[in-house]
Amino acid sequence: MAKVETVVLHKVMAGRTLETLSFDNTYARLPQAFYARVNPTPFSTVPYLIHANPVAADLIDLDPEQLTRPEFAALFGGSALAPGMEPLAMLYSGHQFGVYVPQLGDGRAILLGETKNDRGDRWDLHLKGAGLTPFSRDGDGRAVLRSTIREYLCCAAMQGLGIPTTQALCLVGSDDKVYREQVETGAMLVRMAPSHVRFGTFEVFYYRKQHEQLRTLADYVIDQHFSHLRDVADKYARFFADVVERTAKLIAQWQAIGWAHGVMNTDNMSILGLTLDYGPYGFMDDYDAGFICNHSDHNGRYAFNQQPYIGLWNLSCLAQALLPLAEKEALKAGLEAYQPLFDQEYQKRMRAKFGLVEAQPEDNELIRDFMGLLQGSHADYTIVFRELGTFSTEENATNDTMREHFLNRERFDEWAARYRDRLRSEGSRDDERRDRVDRVNPKYVLRNYLAQTAIEKAQTKDFSEIDRLFTLLHDPFSDQPGMESYALPPPNWGKHLAVSCSS
Ligand code: AMP
Ligand code: MG
Repeated sequence: MAKVETVVLHKVMAGRTLETLSFDNTYARLPQAFYARVNPTPFSTVPYLIHANPVAADLIDLDPEQLTRPEFAALFGGSALAPGMEPLAMLYSGHQFGVYVPQLGDGRAILLGETKNDRGDRWDLHLKGAGLTPFSRDGDGRAVLRSTIREYLCCAAMQGLGIPTTQALCLVGSDDKVYREQVETGAMLVRMAPSHVRFGTFEVFYYRKQHEQLRTLADYVIDQHFSHLRDVADKYARFFADVVERTAKLIAQWQAIGWAHGVMNTDNMSILGLTLDYGPYGFMDDYDAGFICNHSDHNGRYAFNQQPYIGLWNLSCLAQALLPLAEKEALKAGLEAYQPLFDQEYQKRMRAKFGLVEAQPEDNELIRDFMGLLQGSHADYTIVFRELGTFSTEENATNDTMREHFLNRERFDEWAARYRDRLRSEGSRDDERRDRVDRVNPKYVLRNYLAQTAIEKAQTKDFSEIDRLFTLLHDPFSDQPGMESYALPPPNWGKHLAVSCSS
């Protein structure tokens, strides 16, 4: 049975029950062209709770005691609806691997409804793996246990790292067979976000030449999520500029933490700048700028070092879709702001990783050279950055623990001397800096092999590893007693696991 009490909550719960969660479905009030009304298709076997996330529950004021009720698994396992829910599948299209696909839409996810917490924040509850919808195309509308565990744990990991993400409320399993490369079991995951609107939601109306719908969508999104722009004259261009900024900042965070999304199609790009649609993602183990985490991405379109550029490419698709609403020049100016915004954010985050407080012109080179050393040695990204916390600026310090990660020790020594001088130039104190960098360089990340271990155990109905990782990743920056092995590099079997889109 699921454990839900392992994470310390942010505040005393407001204590809504499943019965007192109220729903306010603004998306269902939009024109019918925006979605298809469809109910979840229950599993043919009884769904059971695998894990529930009390932090996400807190966001919707749901009392944690509710999470263990059988009604919770029924509701969020697709077998029941709460009053006020108006389930629908959202329409969107998008560019997949650079090619425009005129219709995608929620093929296996259903927006159950929106609920508001006492602070006035609105959350979409989206049930992934809920069965066929009119947008399922050739798919079966299901999600397998493996992929839902990956999404569930990575949402928790991103949350712990402070990277904008959709949230995962719970993971519900079943004994239903689902056919992929092999027979697996079906599961459902409740995803929460203030909005599930994607770049592709705009693209579909643009390419269909439905400019009225496009305007309705833009007005709706601005009204709900960019309300400071509601009454601004050039609100569509300003809205675009905001999306550019959020996207640039999001991707800078991915780059700084060493994470690749794997399928950055425009239908997987959140209009709110959240990490959305977890599939064949990957945290890097050994550093390789050209890291491709998606086994199906043969040309490396979505390789780690391509992500900043792909962010821009995707934003240019969104700009195009907004052409009927905003001046071309204003949209172009929005796009031109992307690179400087990205650079600024990336440099800020990288400086923080190195514990540099001031910004100096030579910092970029110092950082670039370090990345070059990492690349040359294929050193473990997370471990080496964590060890920066132990770096000593003492005169005769050799920084051996770090040094051992690098094949070219002379080049490391040369770099370390520059780094030491740079730190001294701003009067950096080793002990003080360590505390600071340990809050930005995580000790624990969701390495692929860790997720794989949890998946394999879960496939035998042992969910303990999901709980262990969930708790660990909630606080990735602190040393956690007894969890040392989770900070080690992967064992040989776990180094290059193939992860693809088939989920
Ligand atoms: P993704 O690669 O997960 O972002 O999915 C791309 C599109 O395929 C989206 O429209 C999904 O809803 C749809 N899709 C993915 N898997 C399935 C499935 N098993 N059944 C139906 N539609 C799916
Ligand atoms: Mg998707």
